[in-house]
Amino acid sequence: MRRRTFLAASSALAATTAVPLHALAQAANPVTAPWTGPFGGVPAFDKVRVEHFKPALEAGMAEEWAEIEAIANNPQPPTFANTIEALERSGATLDRVQTIYGIWVATLSTPEVRAIDKEMQPKMAAHNDRILQNAKLFQRIDTVYQQRGKLKLTPEQDRLIWLRWNSFVRNGAKLDAAAKARVAAINSELAAAFTAFSQNLLHDENEYDLFLKEADLAGLPPDVRAAMAAAAKGKGRDGEYVIVNTRSSVDPFLTYSERRDLREKVWKTYYSRGDNGDAHDNNALIKKILKLRAERAKLFGYPTHAHWRLANNSMAETPQAGMELMERVWPFAVARVKEEVAEMQAIADKEGTKIKIAPWDYRFYAEKVRKARYDLDMNEVKPYLQLEKLREGMFWASGQLYGFTFHPVTNVPVQHPGVRVWEVKRGPEHIGLWYFDPYARTGKRSGAWMNAYRTQETFDGKVTTIVSNNSNFVKGAPGEPVLISWDDAETMFHEFGHALHGLNSAVTYPSVSGTRVFRDYVEFPSTVNESWLRTPEVLNRFALHHQTGKPIPAELVAKIEKASTFRQGFDVTEFLASALIDMKLHLAGDADIDPDAFEREELKKLGMPDELVMRHRTPQFGHVFSSDGYSAGYYSYLWAEVIALDAVEAFREAPGGLYDKGVAKRLHDHVMSVGNSIHPREGYRKFRGRDPDVKAYLEDKGFPTN
Ligand SMILES: [Zn+2]
Repeated sequence: MRRRTFLAASSALAATTAVPLHALAQAANPVTAPWTGPFGGVPAFDKVRVEHFKPALEAGMAEEWAEIEAIANNPQPPTFANTIEALERSGATLDRVQTIYGIWVATLSTPEVRAIDKEMQPKMAAHNDRILQNAKLFQRIDTVYQQRGKLKLTPEQDRLIWLRWNSFVRNGAKLDAAAKARVAAINSELAAAFTAFSQNLLHDENEYDLFLKEADLAGLPPDVRAAMAAAAKGKGRDGEYVIVNTRSSVDPFLTYSERRDLREKVWKTYYSRGDNGDAHDNNALIKKILKLRAERAKLFGYPTHAHWRLANNSMAETPQAGMELMERVWPFAVARVKEEVAEMQAIADKEGTKIKIAPWDYRFYAEKVRKARYDLDMNEVKPYLQLEKLREGMFWASGQLYGFTFHPVTNVPVQHPGVRVWEVKRGPEHIGLWYFDPYARTGKRSGAWMNAYRTQETFDGKVTTIVSNNSNFVKGAPGEPVLISWDDAETMFHEFGHALHGLNSAVTYPSVSGTRVFRDYVEFPSTVNESWLRTPEVLNRFALHHQTGKPIPAELVAKIEKASTFRQGFDVTEFLASALIDMKLHLAGDADIDPDAFEREELKKLGMPDELVMRHRTPQFGHVFSSDGYSAGYYSYLWAEVIALDAVEAFREAPGGLYDKGVAKRLHDHVMSVGNSIHPREGYRKFRGRDPDVKAYLEDKGFPTN
């Protein structure tokens, strides 16, 4: 099968008679096959088996390489059409393969999938380098790029050629052969180190279960107990309760458990992930990753990895711009922590506990402050937050803003029985598909995220998008509604914001489509969408009590509003501590870094309060060390939140408030629909009439604005 697919895939380009062979390959491997069926084709998830992945990835890479060679060796002089547009067409099979493969890695992982990943990640990195370092190909791109002023290009085409040229140059296309070889070797070593880092982290999240008896559960609300019992049952220990070493399990325990000894134990286990001095310790890997990144940045001509990551690759442009924003907010956040700790200490003293607030006390005592000061018990809010109703609420709000309607679809295959699909329409027009995979299961990574199975494009005919939202809710008993927390409801709206970014896309070329924008801009459309959860229009219609069907009382909403600046000291400080350390680690150049000592010393210099730690300590900082992804880029969440809250301000200033049609249209026209076809700074200016202002962010957190 492997050979046949391989041959068919590459010969399909060389000879026009290859069609029957290609068809044979499709029959043989559903992962490489073009998608067929309704809605312009959908992934044949029902036919996928793990043994398809390796041959499919290899066939996809071979086909793309053949396409690249055909473009690079074209005897015709380079043109926009035969070079830049041809590149847009290349790699379609690999794109489909990596989409399906990525879904298995993230949501259906098994030891077999992990073994394939370990083997294939370095190969995929090498494949990428082989393309980015292809001298003949770059020569053609460069020629078209130099002529671009004379080519009468559309603004999108002009941006596309800059992006393409820039990505080759940034990745070493202009280097000599020896430097190129070294870059490729570094990338391959990094790919292996990233996989090892994530697998260590996964190990430490899976292997430190803490089983408890009923007597250990003092303070825990019924739904937290039920989730712990269900998890224990899933692990074959019916009648017990388990805390898994992941955020979604640890967080509620630390918030509600009255057992300080257990809180300390759970906290220490959680914040020691990847840092246990055993075979799964990540410190040596981090050292290695930092060294390799620093060396690679120098080869590319940048002083540090942070400079390389941000230059021509972010809205911030320079590490300094990111640092300046973080350093502006940091003192306010730390000052707020001091106030929060004082308030919590007062409660502890009043209780006569004789304790000094420690990191494992923060969430617990903060909750007591919430009740005392705001008379708000989040457990009273939860009965109104039904997963399915809130989903309808997200649909409804997107209808108001962007004209979308959602229609359940049952005739397409899904990757797991828990996944459901909706067709998205605007009036009679088909816009795309939305796959929803809400429930936790073994083999699914924790957290919530969006991805695009297929991006929108029009340049070779209309292609509509397929997007998905994924989360880890615990499924209730049959017929029982799933109740979620306020934070989880916000996260749902956030991830749906990413989906809307994909669904609204209206560009010509796939590589600038939807969410394929700069890292520090991509969180803007998602963060801004969180704001519609809090509107009375959504809450009155969709935050309905699961037993009475009555909407959430206005007094309760008012309390939520009033408590919105609650615990922001903790939230912003734990985030910023991670974001600052990320940037500092990647500004340190090739200095010899001991991650533990670096973290300790730098946090001390920053004046990090003792009562909390980084949201992601260095040995568990998957955003930064399980890929290049958010390296020197964790600040992006702050950057994008500043923009998002500034954008919400534009709605508030308008007559229609958050449902103002005019502002919604501007958001659609200059942000949601344009993808990366325009520089984010320009797009934002067209939407807002000016650059983003940090004021709305500071106000939202209750920080001083002058
Ligand atoms: Zn996001």
